[in-house]
Amino acid sequence: MGTVRCLKCRECNREYEPDFRYICEDCFGPIDVEYEIPSVLTRELFSNRQEKSYWRYFELLPIANKNNIISLGAGFTPLQLADRLGEQIGNLKNIFIKNDSVNPTYSFKDRPAGVAVSKAKEIRLRAVGCASTGNLASATAAHAAKAKLPCFIFAPSDIERVKILQALSYGAEFVAVDGTYDDANRVASVIGDSKGIGVVNINMRPYYVEGSKTLAFEVAEQLGWQVPDTLIIPVGSGAMLNAICKGFEELENLGLVDDVSKMKIIAAQPHGCAPIVDAFKNKSNEVRPIEKPETIAKSLAIGDPGDGLYVLRRLAQYNGIAEEVTDEEIVDGILALAKTEGIFTEPAGGVSVAALKKLVQDGRIDKDENIVCYVTGNGLKATEAIVDVLPKLDAVKPDIQVVSALIR
Ligand SMILES: *Cc1c(COP(=O)(O)O)cnc(C)c1O
Ligand SMILES: [Zn+2]
Repeated sequence: MGTVRCLKCRECNREYEPDFRYICEDCFGPIDVEYEIPSVLTRELFSNRQEKSYWRYFELLPIANKNNIISLGAGFTPLQLADRLGEQIGNLKNIFIKNDSVNPTYSFKDRPAGVAVSKAKEIRLRAVGCASTGNLASATAAHAAKAKLPCFIFAPSDIERVKILQALSYGAEFVAVDGTYDDANRVASVIGDSKGIGVVNINMRPYYVEGSKTLAFEVAEQLGWQVPDTLIIPVGSGAMLNAICKGFEELENLGLVDDVSKMKIIAAQPHGCAPIVDAFKNKSNEVRPIEKPETIAKSLAIGDPGDGLYVLRRLAQYNGIAEEVTDEEIVDGILALAKTEGIFTEPAGGVSVAALKKLVQDGRIDKDENIVCYVTGNGLKATEAIVDVLPKLDAVKPDIQVVSALIR
């Protein structure tokens, strides 16, 4: 079982009993989960497990009783050797795609949402929810359905219905706030605390982020317990990038992998919403919010990233680079990945691939490096991003000679 030792402030290190709390009372810093790690964890133990989901690492996840686990089978997704993509980008030999587009609700958010909903069940909250309309809403709603918990999606009332169709199908209730995303967020935060609702990315955040750690565990295990040289990670709030770093550090502390200090972390953002890249390039440690994000990568359109500062610290710690790519490069990235590897991703994954390509072309990534490129969501989620660049269909007569002449 994952034995949580305490909740610990990331800034002042104050420790708290593991309960329903997400900011430090002393310094308002964010809270992380610390574990009582059993000493028997070995590579063999994990590698021999039959469980084909991220719950194969349950000792390192914050659920005390296995009966409280709500699993849709997310995780343990393919790590695909992308030799064809590598060849097209420029003779890359050791490039892998971590393909998280094939999770149950079609994005990596099944990892954090699944852990948060399980924890909500464990501490007997009456309902769960989130302030999101995208992948997080779907992932939370699906796990809530399986957990038999009501789920509330807080969002502005004027969003397009198709954006929440998936979440509504799982039975979630839509709280249509007549205001902005900030208003919806604030309402979710206050209502969550006052009504005992586990808002997965707000008051459940310490537990929520733990799920994304498994993106490190799986990659390490799938590489035969090796740490990649270079990791390319798409960044919105920055929570996932931080969690991946925490995951590798936990593996090192357990002796399951060697030195993680040499890995190189690349934070990839879309040009229309790249506040962390801006700060990185200006060598500033202040992330200045983007008022109006404009990008096809909606999953990454977070103007004021909650974990922005921590991403900058991670980049400093791990030989990091932050880079941005344009909408056009994102579309090229989506199509390159689809056409060479048979993986259809949403724009967030296109951002990873496009950043990889850019850094290789600039000579900032070497051909021989062992690279893992995180592809975090499915292309079917955002077909509007590519519909205009795909070939138009010209009608052809049902005449064998005419068709035959067309097909070379
Ligand atoms: C949420 C999301 C991200 C970004 O994750 P953060 O933790 O917000 O940085 C990346 N890709 C997809 C598909 C997402 O849904
Ligand atoms: Zn503190």
